[in-house]
Amino acid sequence: MNTTETGDFEFSFLEEGFSARDTVEQKINESSLTDERDAFYVCDLGDVVKKHRRWLRAMPRVTPFYAVKCNDSQAVVMTLASMGAGFDCASKTEIQLVQSLGVEASRIIYANPCKQVSQIKYASAHGVQMMTFDSEVELMKVARYHDNAKLVLRIATDDSKAVCRLSVKFGAPLKACRGLLERAKELGLDVIGVSFHVGSGCTDADTYTKAIADARCVFDMGADFGFNMDLLDIGGGFPGSDDAELKFEEITAVINPALDKYFPTDAGVKVIAEPGRFYVASAYTLVVNIIAKKVIVDDDSASDEEDEATSDRTLMYYVNDGVYGSFNCILYDHAHCLPTLHKKPKPDEAMYPCSIWGPTCDGLDRIVEQCDLPDMQVGDWLVFENMGAYTVAASSTFNGFQRPSIHYVMSRHAWQDVQQICSQGPPAPVEEPSLLEMPACCGRGTNLDMPKPCPAHMV
Ligand SMILES: *Cc1c(COP(=O)(O)O)cnc(C)c1O
Repeated sequence: MNTTETGDFEFSFLEEGFSARDTVEQKINESSLTDERDAFYVCDLGDVVKKHRRWLRAMPRVTPFYAVKCNDSQAVVMTLASMGAGFDCASKTEIQLVQSLGVEASRIIYANPCKQVSQIKYASAHGVQMMTFDSEVELMKVARYHDNAKLVLRIATDDSKAVCRLSVKFGAPLKACRGLLERAKELGLDVIGVSFHVGSGCTDADTYTKAIADARCVFDMGADFGFNMDLLDIGGGFPGSDDAELKFEEITAVINPALDKYFPTDAGVKVIAEPGRFYVASAYTLVVNIIAKKVIVDDDSASDEEDEATSDRTLMYYVNDGVYGSFNCILYDHAHCLPTLHKKPKPDEAMYPCSIWGPTCDGLDRIVEQCDLPDMQVGDWLVFENMGAYTVAASSTFNGFQRPSIHYVMSRHAWQDVQQICSQGPPAPVEEPSLLEMPACCGRGTNLDMPKPCPAHMV
């Protein structure tokens, strides 16, 4: 493997015929030679590229603005920037990160309806114009502290069936929109469109249809006040792995006709979205090591007739990452994480009821309450897939436990695909390019007037 070092990450090309899963094996083997055995991630940037292809195929009309909060890895942001995505930033620091990688301000939407004044000023000073709002107070702040904002009215949705509800906190109810638009007009502000978020982990595709129909109403209200609204932002909520209850293509099969009905292409409305989870969840695999183990024997259930000595045993495994680290997704994102085994169990291997715990001294730090696993030893590994969304981004080093290192990999084929998606950009570097030298195309240096999509989106 060739390793390329860049800013603060490093990535390796996968040799022909090797997968990210082979890298997991290789890292486990290397680490098993030592006593370190720290938890680590392998991130397959090629998976992010595949997701983008899938996005373009499923929703050619909709330009993704990746929600940085989901995973603010430079490698991920750079990969997406190179393929022409825009970015949903919710804070000054997220704006700084995205701009430091060369993304133009026109490809950023400041999608936080409740912003600190100093951060509104920062956005203004750095050319970020698109921003969301859902209240009158926010309009007054923006009118005072931003020079030239292009405002997007965030409306509430019925997110009662989403895993993580957002409309309890954000989004104006439909009946408040007329008043807000009127106030914006009085303040001399420009409202360019409507946004919504159906809730993260959406389980009901019809929520999108209803929200798109509501957005249409708000566009019509806007026209009454003389606003020339031309941006619809359908937010996030798309699943990040295929074991989700509602599949990505099942959602897009509902969204596309709704867009055609309420916002036909000839109406000239640009459509963007703010996917987070969709792009990163399945790219990350977390590998943890068993650092301690307890065998609990339940005396009460022990029976003389039982010759299977195993039936009353419960195992407790302690591993070196937990809910204060990567598994914060269990608390904040309502995630259910189950490991896959590193060592394949033999067909007749006995399984035991087990619980899995994190390394901190807090009793809350439990990863799995109940699952069946074989009898493993301290030093063995457990693998957790689909660990890219809302994991590293919100993890802490509570109790002194450090975040796992992340090994980024990409196949040459995926690399070529990035170049192809950006085929309108400057010539691709020929040999062993680093991510920081990814083709600028839609990513960097060009002055596209977003949200006009990068040419690749029309493929
Ligand atoms: C969190 C968030 C997103 C991303 O949501 P996903 O469900 O991860 O796609 C998009 N937009 C806004 C405004 C958000 O708060």
